[in-house]
Amino acid sequence: MPELILIVEDEADIANTVAFNLQQDGFATHIAPDASSALAFVARSSPAPALVLLDLMLPDMPGTEVCRRLRQSPATRRIPIVMLTARTEAIDRVVGFELGADDYVTKPFSVRELVLRVRAVLRRAKPDHDTPDVEDEVVSFGNLRIDFEGHRVWVSDTEIVLTALEFRLLTTLIKRRGRVQTRETLLTDVWEMHGDVTTRTVDTHVRRLRKKLGGASGSIETLRGVGYRFQTETVASAD
Ligand code: CA
Repeated sequence: MPELILIVEDEADIANTVAFNLQQDGFATHIAPDASSALAFVARSSPAPALVLLDLMLPDMPGTEVCRRLRQSPATRRIPIVMLTARTEAIDRVVGFELGADDYVTKPFSVRELVLRVRAVLRRAKPDHDTPDVEDEVVSFGNLRIDFEGHRVWVSDTEIVLTALEFRLLTTLIKRRGRVQTRETLLTDVWEMHGDVTTRTVDTHVRRLRKKLGGASGSIETLRGVGYRFQTETVASAD
């Protein structure tokens, strides 16, 4: 069955063009012209959409609020979200990432590029998408436990919910544990880098990931001006 992409966009021309191109690429699509119909669609659609393309300027509610609601509900919090915004909109893309968006595209965008981004985000969201390094299914470092296959993470036996991107960031650091990863390397390998994602994005996500890891946050070490490193020795948390 083709993967379903929900397009939340009130500008019909844009929505139709994006839908057409996604369909040409083998996806199923559904267009929601406002926030309330988008949320209603997500609530009733089974299976859930594989990904949501979310315009920020919607007639009834800001896209950021839609993002926040999708992230709040256990049923929808793992659905990847790609935000669409006009260059003139004052919102910082970091705000989008803070809210849990997985990627961010600025209008006007090339539809071809958007489709590639959608594919990249879906690829990293898949539990079986992995680097060639072989990992045991479940590994533990101190109070941190990761189920690579099941895409689940526990700290001191309490499960924590990570977005697809955070999970990929964490597992990438873990697979290369003990080795420093520069922001540029992480951008290439975790974000599958494109022009308008900056190294600040990496810092923002690491900060969020650490916050979620709580008592295990000390495993991600900052090498100032260089990048990040996962350290396997148990370290006291900074929190
Ligand atoms: Ca709009």
